[in-house]
Amino acid sequence: MKAVVCRSPGELVLEDRADPGTPPPGWARVAVSHVGICGTDYHIFEGKHPFLAYPRIMGHEVSGTIVEKGEGVETSVGEPVIINPYLACGECIACRHGKPNCCVRIEVLGVHRDGAMCEEILVPARNLYPANGLSLADAARAHAGHRRRADRAWHGDLRAHRRTGGQPA
Ligand SMILES: [Zn+2]
Ligand SMILES: [Zn+2]
Repeated sequence: MKAVVCRSPGELVLEDRADPGTPPPGWARVAVSHVGICGTDYHIFEGKHPFLAYPRIMGHEVSGTIVEKGEGVETSVGEPVIINPYLACGECIACRHGKPNCCVRIEVLGVHRDGAMCEEILVPARNLYPANGLSLADAARAHAGHRRRADRAWHGDLRAHRRTGGQPA
C-alpha cells in the first residue's frame, strides 16, 4: 500500500509499505478515508516533537470504513468509523481496572506508532466509534471538535497522555 512517511524532520515521502494484513482477535482493518492535520503533525514534521522515532507515518485524526474484522469484533464490515488514536496496552494495572485512559503504556497512532497517512490500518475495535451519520470528512475532525460523545472519552485520554509527556493537540 501507499503511505506518506516522515523519514526524518523535514523529509516527507510517498513509500510502498506492506499491507497491514489480517486483524488479530479484537482488532479491525480500516480503510482510511480522511486524515486531519494538526499542530502535533507539524511538530513531528519539524522535528520538534520530544518523543518521536523516525521514520514515522503520521496521522491521528482519522475516519474510515471497516474492511475486515478479527475474531470477537461486533462492529460490521462496511461501518463508517472514527478512530480514537489513543491505544491502551490492555495489561497494565490501570487497564486491568477498566481505566484505559490512564494506561501507563498508552501509545498514540501517528506519534508513538505508525498512523493513518496510508491506505489501511489495523486498530483495536474498542478504539472505533461509529460515525453516526457524520460525513467521513467531518468525522476525521471530531477529535478537534470536542462536541461528540466520543470526545468525552478522548478528553480523559488526552489528560493521561499529557501525564506521559506527549503533546496531542
Ligand atoms: Zn495499559
Ligand atoms: Zn491532533
